[in-house]
Amino acid sequence: MSEPRPRDPDRPARKRAPRIGEVVRTSRITPHMIRVVLGGEGLAGFPAGEFTDHYVKLLFRPPGASYDVPFDVEQVRAELPAEQWSVTRTYTVRAWDPASGELTIDFVHHGDEGVAGPWAASARPGDRIQFMGPGGAYGPRPDADWHLLAGDEAALPAIAATLDRLPPDARALVFVEVAGPEDEQGDLRLSPGIELRWLHRGDGAPGAALVEAVRDAELPEGTGHLFVHGEAHAVRELRRHLRELRGLAPAWTSISGYWRRGATEDGWQASKREWNAQIEAEEAPAPA
Ligand SMILES: Cc1cc2nc3c(=O)[nH]c(=O)nc-3n(C[C@H](O)[C@H](O)[C@H](O)COP(=O)(O)OP(=O)(O)OC[C@H]3O[C@@H](n4cnc5c(N)ncnc54)[C@H](O)[C@@H]3O)c2cc1C
Repeated sequence: MSEPRPRDPDRPARKRAPRIGEVVRTSRITPHMIRVVLGGEGLAGFPAGEFTDHYVKLLFRPPGASYDVPFDVEQVRAELPAEQWSVTRTYTVRAWDPASGELTIDFVHHGDEGVAGPWAASARPGDRIQFMGPGGAYGPRPDADWHLLAGDEAALPAIAATLDRLPPDARALVFVEVAGPEDEQGDLRLSPGIELRWLHRGDGAPGAALVEAVRDAELPEGTGHLFVHGEAHAVRELRRHLRELRGLAPAWTSISGYWRRGATEDGWQASKREWNAQIEAEEAPAPA
């Protein structure tokens, strides 16, 4: 049991307003993807819409937590032992409908491991979840000649939200790696200029099929806007390839690992700074 951390009374607490969503309905849209629709008064005025990679930070209480939602994360951390602390998981806003007040999130069900995947699998109408956000940074640039959207299941909600936003005459190459054919989603919005390729992982390492397909892709002429997210090792390889070999400018690329094999989100987030620093050092030009 860890010692409770005293709060520094001289430092005003940085309050980020938490929201409470209530599960309205759930459905398994493919064998490994669970759609959870949240609603309730806590979503009133939810400010999503600017970006297609909007995300929220969901806060999961441990089983048997001695507190209910809503809770103050800082207070829990200051007053309760670490076993009682909530854990944070990041999820994309697949859709936000201000008219109905419904927020749709698609969860990869990657087995019994973890917190968020199993939560989604057992979520029932009326369950409540606390979250923060939305954050976000990417939306397809209207001045791009073409778009590249590449990712795995975890990035698929953002890719799907991007497809919903692209104008009808947009040109896009879309690569999505999923476990197998049964995990392909049939309801993505595809206009004539969109070439979608599903890649099947099978027994391969996460991201291997994606890396191979993007490496082999013939990219169109002109300026492309890139959105590439998924398993961190695969994304690192793609980042190298797209920036170093294809010379694509950082300002036109949104590339990052959404998760890392062998690490929980806490582990991945804790190591991310070092991971990114290493990539940047590798990308820096050698001294003359
Ligand atoms: C900005 C952003 C947006 C994201 N949006 C989504 C989204 O919309 N939908 C979504 O499902 N995920 C999304 N993710 C990824 C998600 O946050 C992670 O996959 C997270 O680790 C899942 O939490 P968990 O509690 O289920 O598993 P954890 O407790 O974090 O991990 C348990 C184990 O499962 C493995 N694991 C984690 N994720 C996966 C996976 N996708 N496939 C296979 N193994 C995995 C871990 O490596 C670990 O070994 C997003 C991440 C970011 C940063």
